[in-house]
Amino acid sequence: DVDAVIESGATGIGLYRTEFLFMNSDHFPTEEEQYQAYRVVAEKMKGKPVTIRTMDIGGDKSLPYMELPKEDNPFLGWRAIRVCLDREEILRTQFKALLRASKYGQIKIMLPMIMDIVEVRKARAILEECKKELDEIGKIYDRNIKVGIMVETPSTAIVAYKFAKEVDFFSIGTNDLTQYFLAVDRGNEMVANLYNSFNPAVLEAIQKVIDAAHGANINVSMCGEFAGDKRATKLLLGMGLDSFSMSASSGLTIKKIIRNSNYADAKKFRDLILQQDTPEEVVEKL
Ligand code: PEP
Ligand code: MG
Repeated sequence: DVDAVIESGATGIGLYRTEFLFMNSDHFPTEEEQYQAYRVVAEKMKGKPVTIRTMDIGGDKSLPYMELPKEDNPFLGWRAIRVCLDREEILRTQFKALLRASKYGQIKIMLPMIMDIVEVRKARAILEECKKELDEIGKIYDRNIKVGIMVETPSTAIVAYKFAKEVDFFSIGTNDLTQYFLAVDRGNEMVANLYNSFNPAVLEAIQKVIDAAHGANINVSMCGEFAGDKRATKLLLGMGLDSFSMSASSGLTIKKIIRNSNYADAKKFRDLILQQDTPEEVVEKL
């Protein structure tokens, strides 16, 4: 997809979902295979940031070559960082591939489904061990590689200010944040009418996360579908969101809205929107 990204005029990649690399393979991609894949993207983006998310498998995504247990509540179960911390070798292989590829551009590492600071600390400790391993064999990598988290669980959103001290950036994953905040399955048609990122609770959570990031002087991006929803752009701008990540096809539309907006005006608009009590009232005002 990277050529379409470049053509769209994007200033970086906000979410590279690596699980597709895993899903399109009949085996766990080796360090070398992953390194090649990440390197191509880093090189093609020519120094622009490429935010690569570690494997987010589980939930609705499975791997044919990996035994995933049958779960009653897969979205609340063994997925993403939980799998990677239990099967450390998966994370180690991915980290080493990412570090090696970081020599060829600006790669940022992003951890999905974080809900506890201990997960961040464990993952960062593993990353440090991977760096040492590469040092020992003389491999070069970006020593200042940035590590951030997806903010997509209520537990992380509520105490985002604590997480902000532990990471280099946030990216708000509104797809999951909405599902978990509202307790509404994002894939269940029966409750699709309730799944709404314009719900005031979700909006307040987003504002809280942005404020927490800025309180700690780190950047906050959004990479859920909401970032590409043109009804939300002015609101998110007024909330102080630093970067918007979306499918390449929405990029120009959103960029145009941002460039035609005025920040002071967007902030006033934000205040008005946050006063609304229901998703319907929010959408009507928007
Ligand atoms: C999200 O949850 O908002 C997100 C971007 O991740 P995914 O849709 O892959 O779960
Ligand atoms: Mg998600």
